[in-house]
Amino acid sequence: MARANEELSAWLDAAVDPMVACDAHEHVYFLNRAAEQLFAWKREDLHGQPVSRLFPERVSHHEGQSLVRYLLSRRDALEGRPTRVFAQRSDGAEVLVELTVGASGQGDDERIVISLRRLHEVIDTLREPLEHPRHEAEASLVETRVRGDDLYRLVVENAPLGIFHYDTTPVVTACNERLVTILGSTKRIIVGLNLLSLRDEAMMRCVRESLAGRGADYEGNYASVTGHKVTPVHVRFAPCYNDSGVVEGGVGIVEDVSQRRLAERERDEGMALLTTLFDSAPVGLGFIDTRLRYVRVNERLANINGKSPEEHLGKDPHQVLGPGGPAVELMLRHVLDTGEPVVEEEVDTSLIGSPGPRRLLAGSCYPVRAPDGRMLGVGVLVEDITRRKLAEEEREKLYHEAQQAIRVRDDFLSIASHELKTPLTPLSLRLATLERKLERGESVDPTTLRHARQHLLRMTGLINDLLDASRIEAGRLALHPQATRMDSLVEHVLQAMDAQRAGHELRYVHPEDAVQVFVDPYRLEQVISNLVENAFKYSPDGGVIQVTLETHGELALLAVKDPGIGIPVDQQTQLFERYFRARNVSSRSYGGLGLGLYISRDIVERHGGRIWVESQVGQGSTFHIALPLLSGTSAHPAVSQPDQHVH
Ligand code: ADP
Repeated sequence: MARANEELSAWLDAAVDPMVACDAHEHVYFLNRAAEQLFAWKREDLHGQPVSRLFPERVSHHEGQSLVRYLLSRRDALEGRPTRVFAQRSDGAEVLVELTVGASGQGDDERIVISLRRLHEVIDTLREPLEHPRHEAEASLVETRVRGDDLYRLVVENAPLGIFHYDTTPVVTACNERLVTILGSTKRIIVGLNLLSLRDEAMMRCVRESLAGRGADYEGNYASVTGHKVTPVHVRFAPCYNDSGVVEGGVGIVEDVSQRRLAERERDEGMALLTTLFDSAPVGLGFIDTRLRYVRVNERLANINGKSPEEHLGKDPHQVLGPGGPAVELMLRHVLDTGEPVVEEEVDTSLIGSPGPRRLLAGSCYPVRAPDGRMLGVGVLVEDITRRKLAEEEREKLYHEAQQAIRVRDDFLSIASHELKTPLTPLSLRLATLERKLERGESVDPTTLRHARQHLLRMTGLINDLLDASRIEAGRLALHPQATRMDSLVEHVLQAMDAQRAGHELRYVHPEDAVQVFVDPYRLEQVISNLVENAFKYSPDGGVIQVTLETHGELALLAVKDPGIGIPVDQQTQLFERYFRARNVSSRSYGGLGLGLYISRDIVERHGGRIWVESQVGQGSTFHIALPLLSGTSAHPAVSQPDQHVH
């Protein structure tokens, strides 16, 4: 019998699976070698001890029964299937096991057998209980292994990523602390977890891939089984091979990507903001790479360049801007070569040969570098400043005109006061002479009186001119046209002026037939007097003043020709402007306000006529007037009738 027992012990010791036998009171009386190894107990130390010592306290009782009794009571329901439970080793570490419980005998003779299968081991227990080496040589080998195991444990535990191992079932067999931190579940829950139970199809696909020998990447949210923590994770699944090169499971490397996701979201938001700013900026913005190809342009720049944003991409400025391209390329190259920005360079599109209407652009180019200093390309900022520039130019022009007007006014005031004052002195002298003579009872020389009257007339003339000019400005110079014989009117004017002609000879040629016009005779007289007076005034050396009246078609043409100082060609068109006096007449030698021709042009043009001059400096001048004839096919020329009657 003892021999039979010994034989049975030997067989049980040879068995791979751990086995524990206990009596009716659940005291251990036998455990095989595999059980010794699994629990790190020596057979003799455990002998007679309660079997509950092999399990953590929390699982040693169930529903009011001991674990063993509980499992025995469920034997029928389990139909021989094992139960998974944590067992406890002598050193306190827990191991996951599957166990089945059987019993024989009754009462005190009852014998209970627990058969176990070690499932997996938490990583804390990598330090396996070691057999004592029998030989010295083996000893160093074992030490190396111990150190290797420790090192391995250290590496896994200190890895900045979560690491777990799973078998082919696929149940998690081990994990490091980092994974615990990332997932927020205890190691006890993670180890022993069947990955299938997570019901995540994407993850299952990765697991299947790894078990088939291929790596796979998973990205998703891990919801902790116990808590409510949801962690965005990236998991790299990789196969694990055993010594014979067969996949025996896999390893998952877990990264907590919540920070990365946050950063990505912030980056995406930042990018969206930049894109909005870029696209809706009221100035043209673009980026050109180091090979001078457009990489990106906003709507505004596309608009300025006259092409859609898509038409820019991958093209160089020459292809986009045509003849305007080389000038732009030169600017870009300068930035790339020197690393110096070009700021607010003004470009006139008509000068660089760009097609389309002329535009003025202000362009800035600046180097764009990577954080490591590498040149990535050139940023371009373009503003269409055409309107601004034109407005500036207009403002400048107006300013100059205003300045000019102020100068003209000042000149005019000094000339006008001089002109008005000039006749006063001789007039006052002549009146004093008359007074003296009359007091003394002497006879009065009519010449003195005539001269006095001439000065008075001159002043009246000046004042009339000033009044007429302001009436013209206000649109209130009235005309009273009537059928008039122009030939007689000219004759009459010339006769009246005979007294003023001094050393000049006046010649008048006119057609034999009456020349009928429809004019305001008073105003036409004023025009002719002015032309003849000017002829006298600006021909200081005397000479012949030739007045010619003729008809041509439906026009009466009058010319007043003098041999005087003439008028510079470049100023001839300005003669008819208010206050204008040519540069060859100094106010000292030739008095005048520069109003006569201005008034004359207004009168002639308002009679439907035209006035112009032909002249050369030093060669004399000829002033021409053309007025519509009254006879002929055409109706009365249009004569404007201002409301007020002013003479
Ligand atoms: P004013 O003679 O008072 O200066 P006008 O309007 O009559 O004003 O003439 C304008 C200017 O035209 C004159 O200042 C003078 O420079 C030029 N001008 C007019 N008539 C003649 C002329 N016959 N010969 C040369 N210059 C003339």
